[in-house]
Amino acid sequence: MSSASVGAEAPGLAGTAEVRAYGQYVNGRWIEVPGEGEGIVRLAPGSGGRVIARFAAGTPDDVAEAVSAARRAFDTGPWPRLTGIERGRVLLRLAALLRERAERFARLEAEEVGKPIRLARGDVAATVDIIEYAAGLAMAAHGDVHTNLGEDYTAWTVREPVGVVGMITPWNFPLLQVAQKLPFALGAGCTTVIKPSELTSGSTLELARLTEAAGVPPGVVNVVTGYGRDAGRPLAGSRGVDLLSFTGSTATGRAVIAASGEHATRLSLELGGKAASVVFADADLDDAVDGVLFGVLFNQGECCVSGARLLIEESVADAFVDRLAERAARVRVGAPLDERTEVGPLISGDHVTKVLDYLTDEALDGARILTGGAVLSDAAHGGGDYLPPTVVDGVGPDSRLFREEIFGPVLTVTRFTGFEQAMDLANAVDYGLANTVWTKDVDKAMRAARRLRSGRVWINTTLDGSPQLPAGGMGASGYGRELGQAGFDEFTEVKSVQLRTGPRTPFFDASPAPRPGEE
Ligand code: NAD
Repeated sequence: MSSASVGAEAPGLAGTAEVRAYGQYVNGRWIEVPGEGEGIVRLAPGSGGRVIARFAAGTPDDVAEAVSAARRAFDTGPWPRLTGIERGRVLLRLAALLRERAERFARLEAEEVGKPIRLARGDVAATVDIIEYAAGLAMAAHGDVHTNLGEDYTAWTVREPVGVVGMITPWNFPLLQVAQKLPFALGAGCTTVIKPSELTSGSTLELARLTEAAGVPPGVVNVVTGYGRDAGRPLAGSRGVDLLSFTGSTATGRAVIAASGEHATRLSLELGGKAASVVFADADLDDAVDGVLFGVLFNQGECCVSGARLLIEESVADAFVDRLAERAARVRVGAPLDERTEVGPLISGDHVTKVLDYLTDEALDGARILTGGAVLSDAAHGGGDYLPPTVVDGVGPDSRLFREEIFGPVLTVTRFTGFEQAMDLANAVDYGLANTVWTKDVDKAMRAARRLRSGRVWINTTLDGSPQLPAGGMGASGYGRELGQAGFDEFTEVKSVQLRTGPRTPFFDASPAPRPGEE
């Protein structure tokens, strides 16, 4: 069996029978590349068990070494001391290097995650945009001066890099998720230790290799791969980490909160979601059919902002749901590297089992599956990882299907009458990551944007975004923001400095203190 170390530039590396073997990236060195039969073995989703990669299984000691390297690089290294222009320039080089290798990254991402190659190309292009945007923010970063605090005072606030940032990321958008953190942290002058998902570490490691080529000094970017308990947990509980930026499930987020409590480590948490697509009768219903399906099927529904709950106005519900189910049944489910594929395989057999658990008679509790509902088993869809678009009608707000994150291509349908009920239903879950509204009534759209309790609201579009727009959650979806100026500011500490000019107004009485007996 052939194996390639990280960074090998063999053409067609991804998508071939080759197995990529990756070590850890610590203090500018690649260590512990796992040999055959060692480390974490990654099987390509939907392939029936083809091995595509081996990742090093990191330990608490590996994490400690990486954190020390990041600490040294922050406390004494050049990176935080460069000018914003210099750091921005390095980020622009990183973006250019990634753009040159866009197809390679897209294929790698499609193969490891199982996402359709068309979407993977979009993820890489969006990552390049984000890195360039972060470069701009790094160059423009500045403090504020206060000149109206009284004639004798001048004060200023500065934004300093927060320090060593631990980053823990999930498997659904491995490259995009790290791109929402790393370039902003680097731009602010931080140093980093990244723990990607054990299922999809390849693109993060290869991005780290590009940071080296772009001119990021050793120790500023470190990647420790491995399982959550062995590598994620120690990173969250490390005393050397100043900010832990986590993206993943709400359950793991709670574990991270507990681990980080030991040293009161600052946290930024991007957690799960259960977004609604609210369709009013006055919407452009053609747009809404396409948009609602896109919202739930994008990335096989393995998306934190997936529009997993359709809330449809009663007066148009039957006709709309019929059209939707009919269209869903025609979506092309196929292999990730097939250019025509619209929905790929789910990430793993374990995850398929978890999703199917929501489609048992007991879980459905009277709700009806209109299309989909079982994995495909024909020759073109081997391995049991392909779940076709699934639409479940008649789901009530108390149902597990309505309240819990399923993280698959499963759309629940719930009917409403009137604006108030629509808003109440949309807000009736613990999560608050995103929601979408379809209506041509601008008053209604504006009212909905105010009423919805989520970090993002889309109106007549869905799963959109730009590097300029902050993203993040409310409630069980976490706290902190990524992207935009707010996303850059997450990686900074605000310090205020106050200067007094002229003589001090004494606090203590200037006349000589009375001696004992003189009073
Ligand atoms: P997960 O919570 O299982 O794992 C996320 C990361 O945490 C992985 O790297 C994992 O190894 C690590 N981890 C596991 N246990 C840990 C522990 N005890 N301590 C520290 N780290 C630990 O999530 P996942 O299955 O990889 O990803 C899917 C989840 O991520 C979904 O809930 C999804 O909504 C969420 N997500 C949220 C956003 C967002 O922006 N809010 C974006 C993408 C994904």
